[in-house]
Amino acid sequence: MYQNLQVQQPNSKYKTQLCRHFITIGSCALGTRCQFAHGRQELRTNNQGMTNYNQPNIQQNHQGGNQNRVQHLNPMITNYKTQLCKHFNPQTGQCKNGSTCTFAHGEQELNQINPYLQNQYMSMQQQIKQQNQVTLQAELTQQILIMILTNMEAIFPGQNNIINLLKFGQEKARQGDNQAASEIIKQIIHDEQRTKEEKNQYQLIYNNAQNHYSQKLKESNM
Ligand SMILES: [Zn+2]
Ligand SMILES: [Zn+2]
Repeated sequence: MYQNLQVQQPNSKYKTQLCRHFITIGSCALGTRCQFAHGRQELRTNNQGMTNYNQPNIQQNHQGGNQNRVQHLNPMITNYKTQLCKHFNPQTGQCKNGSTCTFAHGEQELNQINPYLQNQYMSMQQQIKQQNQVTLQAELTQQILIMILTNMEAIFPGQNNIINLLKFGQEKARQGDNQAASEIIKQIIHDEQRTKEEKNQYQLIYNNAQNHYSQKLKESNM
């Protein structure tokens, strides 16, 4: 490695920038003789804490066809703080690009995480979390509907038309049709023929299911 450095022009920027060939086509003809970093893990920096930052754009390149888009993203993402800024004056701490400069102001800024990307990542995480919450609620609703429809069979012993309707509702819930399943419950409970006793029994079953639902939801948020 040291020898290669001598054969090529000695270069203070050795491996401080990502190789353009490597970024755009995913490989480089110079191989190990290349002065530029092939991926972030090769970037020469004292700031090792940031190297687990991944490389979505390089992945895209391997699939091909996205060259324009990647080049467009380069200033924002791929090259962010991977090179030392030429306009930065360490004496004054000033740069004509100010705080929006995508070049590193000193070695300690090399490979800093792009705040724009980090924001995107955070909002993506947030979205996934919300989506999981929606999925979980639907699954829990399905569970308690099946629970209610099954337990309701005990309220109507020998009343086959109702039992069949309840079984049909369970089937609907299992298929993920929570709407149809809860309509069936309403239809049975709001029937004029329901006695006070039947309604009380249903209320108990319903309360149990509600408790189960809240409990599970609480557990999942811990
Ligand atoms: Zn290269
Ligand atoms: Zn700058």
